[in-house]
Amino acid sequence: MADNYFKTYPNKEGFFEEYGGAFIPPVLEAEMEKITDAYHRISKSHNFISELRSIRKHYQGRPTPVYYCNRLSEKYGGRIYLKREDLNHSGAHKLNHCMGEALLAKYLGKKRLIAETGAGQHGVALATAAAYFGLECEIHMGEVDIAKEHPNVVRMQILGAEVVPVTHGLKTLKEAVDSAFEAYLKDPVNTIYCIGSVVGPHPFPMMVRDFQRVVGIEAREQFKEMTGELPDNVVACVGGGSNAMGIFSAFLDDTETSIYGVEPAGRDINTIGEHAATITHGSPGIIHGFKCYTLQDEKGEPAPVYSVASGLDYPGVGPEHSMLHDWKRVNYASANDEETIDAFYELSRLEGIIPALESAHAVAYACKLAKEKPNQSILINLSGRGDKDIDFVVDTFGLPEDAEKKK
Ligand SMILES: *Cc1c(COP(=O)(O)O)cnc(C)c1O
Repeated sequence: MADNYFKTYPNKEGFFEEYGGAFIPPVLEAEMEKITDAYHRISKSHNFISELRSIRKHYQGRPTPVYYCNRLSEKYGGRIYLKREDLNHSGAHKLNHCMGEALLAKYLGKKRLIAETGAGQHGVALATAAAYFGLECEIHMGEVDIAKEHPNVVRMQILGAEVVPVTHGLKTLKEAVDSAFEAYLKDPVNTIYCIGSVVGPHPFPMMVRDFQRVVGIEAREQFKEMTGELPDNVVACVGGGSNAMGIFSAFLDDTETSIYGVEPAGRDINTIGEHAATITHGSPGIIHGFKCYTLQDEKGEPAPVYSVASGLDYPGVGPEHSMLHDWKRVNYASANDEETIDAFYELSRLEGIIPALESAHAVAYACKLAKEKPNQSILINLSGRGDKDIDFVVDTFGLPEDAEKKK
């Protein structure tokens, strides 16, 4: 049955029911078709599968563990478990699909990887993969983001990537996407475009989902081995939705398992520009070449979005999530900035694990769920570690004891 799902979604044209597809100019369409054909051919070959398996084990350090949170469970009730993607090499789940995309590039004889990055996390993961395979790497990044995310810019440069500043428009992610696609189309023979989540035109939502499935396959087996059962609840944060699709994909057939995707409610979920809760507050539309739930302004342009976690502030979401929402197979909920910062410190102080602010959204929602369902188990996908966020959190929100002193 599971196999059937993955064969059916997406269909040949890249649709998950009405979502997904490829709404792009004809030149780009031809290139995407080439990548799709190559992916179907190569990703099923014995050599590709065994090389990727070996990379995951010896380079990335997979399988990552599933961990039972003793003290967090004691405090909130329930039985809370973490899938530790923060322990994946480079500190987050993103390397799972970057290594897959870069391996595909190698099989296709490409010389250069190209992508855009917002906060820099995808750029760092892709630069890591490029170094591993000896490929050139070109990362397009808005000038505003370059100034804001300096440590990630330096990381990419240390890893040997070229960071191309994008100087037009608002100088952020949207312009960086356009700039990266333009550069890609200048040399599609030697270059491959690598997207950072389960978004964009077909075949990217399918490819990235497939490369992330390892998270769910491991977690389901590990959880069963630890407890003898399946989790009652699975929780993950949703930006574009790649870490969530990774873990959700293994549990879609397990109807006894409830699944929750947590979106960023930001500073105010009722004001456009103050959150990025795309599914909870958006409506279907076309963005960046595919159809999904989107946050749009009156003119149908992508709306401004905000989250304390820069990896979650995207005005669209993966087409597969859009379908799973309509099916009501996954429940989409949200956590706001304040709940997220509290969860960031709770996990740090009760378990000695500093989570990425993105992942802290999932932790925040899981703690709420644990209070509501004290007799149930909850498996959280801890998508990344929080080292990248420490200065920002302490400078902006202070330490918990500072807030106590102010009272
Ligand atoms: C980028 C990022 C996310 C959000 O991306 P998804 O595609 O929604 O998974 C979540 N967590 C971490 C740690 C990230 O770096």
